[in-house]
Amino acid sequence: MSRYWSAVVNGLTPYVPGEQPKIDNLVKLNTNEHPYGPSPKALAAIREATGDGLRLYPDPNADALKSALAQRFGVQAKQVFVGNGSDEVLAHAFQALLKHERELWFPDISYSFYPVYCGLYGVAQRQIPLADDFTIRVEDYLPQGDGPGEKAGAIIFPNPNAPTGRLLALEAVERIVAANPDAVVLVDEAYVDFGGESAIALVDQYPNLLVVHTFSKSRSLAGLRVGYAIGHPELIEGLERVKNSFNSYPLDRLALAGAVASVEDEAFFQASCQQVIATRETLVAQLQQLGFEVLPSGANFVFARHPARDGAELAAALRARAIIVRHFKAARIDQFLRITIGTDSQCATLVQALGEILAD
Ligand SMILES: *Cc1c(COP(=O)(O)O)cnc(C)c1O
Repeated sequence: MSRYWSAVVNGLTPYVPGEQPKIDNLVKLNTNEHPYGPSPKALAAIREATGDGLRLYPDPNADALKSALAQRFGVQAKQVFVGNGSDEVLAHAFQALLKHERELWFPDISYSFYPVYCGLYGVAQRQIPLADDFTIRVEDYLPQGDGPGEKAGAIIFPNPNAPTGRLLALEAVERIVAANPDAVVLVDEAYVDFGGESAIALVDQYPNLLVVHTFSKSRSLAGLRVGYAIGHPELIEGLERVKNSFNSYPLDRLALAGAVASVEDEAFFQASCQQVIATRETLVAQLQQLGFEVLPSGANFVFARHPARDGAELAAALRARAIIVRHFKAARIDQFLRITIGTDSQCATLVQALGEILAD
């Protein structure tokens, strides 16, 4: 608290990201980064962009990246918005598209940045409980009537959901979007490349649908900070209005060069996602053998609990062995560990350590 702070700042509860510890030989499975590096072509493009050109501002409209993404997804460039990480894209969406008199609806167990943005931008919110099996119940997101509180002002959810990893089928997403024509439905597909079907296929049909992606997970470029949204040109224009009232140049020259080259290297992208999916399937089987209940995952992490061991204690025991996973001290999920899919060797180290801890 400081008497120099604004009332808004006094009232904020900021997001706490997973830690980035500075410890050598750490098995770091806590923030859903990709275990293998980005496309070598992206790295080469970034290196090439480090030169005299850095004297100049980057393209404020990021046209090359928008065209590359438009081509990749079969949409028009005016249906694409890009930002400094998808967190920034989400932030602009909260202000531009999700703030209304009616409440913004989202799952109670979900990306914990959503309530933070509600606080920052003064967005009225309603958190809707997941079902007991941690799935999103479509019926809960359909308008119940026309009265106050019976319809959403807007809707946001990750698919696959985080931190559960559970995937909603595209038909289920479409039912929510189709039933809420007056509300923007934002689908945060940070993990969709690890086995889900993207709702981008529906954007030409539904002007209220906005799909947000990131380069941080499936493209192994978390350090570059690039995210994007795809939707109707009217939604994109709303985002551009906020962006151009905030920061004209959110994407620097290195980010633009690396992101374009990553999108153009489709073969590398597909292969590296498949590698993570294969490791996930092995890890799930091994965790189940150790007695863990593992939620079905469509992401590059798994959410698992052991019936006989406390989640916080397991996380602490792993940490003592220099293995870091994510544990949330939140209602309903405090017995779970969220474990990022690492390399095969990192996962083997984890399974070995869990075996020893459980035998103690
Ligand atoms: C990681 C993540 C993001 C943020 O990604 P950045 O592009 O790195 O900002 C957004 N949404 C969800 C659900 C995530 O897990």
